[in-house]
Amino acid sequence: MDSTTPRQPRQPGKPAAGAPEGGSGYRIACVALLGAAALVGLYAALTLAGVLENRCWLEATTGRPCIACGCTRDFALLLSGRAPRWNPESGLFFALACAEILWRVAGTAVRRMPRAAIAADVAVHVVLIGWLLSKSLARIVGA
Ligand SMILES: [Zn+2]
Repeated sequence: MDSTTPRQPRQPGKPAAGAPEGGSGYRIACVALLGAAALVGLYAALTLAGVLENRCWLEATTGRPCIACGCTRDFALLLSGRAPRWNPESGLFFALACAEILWRVAGTAVRRMPRAAIAADVAVHVVLIGWLLSKSLARIVGA
């Protein structure tokens, strides 16, 4: 571009071309995931209060507990400062859930998340989802 070429005005809300940050789409995803976490928390509270029945579809279908069976009760124990006792991996899942919530809060608070952080976020979740799926499959086949 030479000095006689008019500059294109930047559209409001859009980063400049080549900007190394994620835009509002990432923030919207973080808000949506926080909303989903709030709904899961509400569901857990209602099942713990006996208002809703807490049924595991995998256990009902296969007779085998899923990798998250017992986590609702264990998370309630952990939140009250007691040790989990229903699922041996509840402590790990609780730590991951806390990290997830903190990251999503940060994702909504930061105006533009660096692209490297978003890429790391996606990579971590691909690994975690693969790990959870492999553990779930192992439970189903009884490995
Ligand atoms: Zn289950």
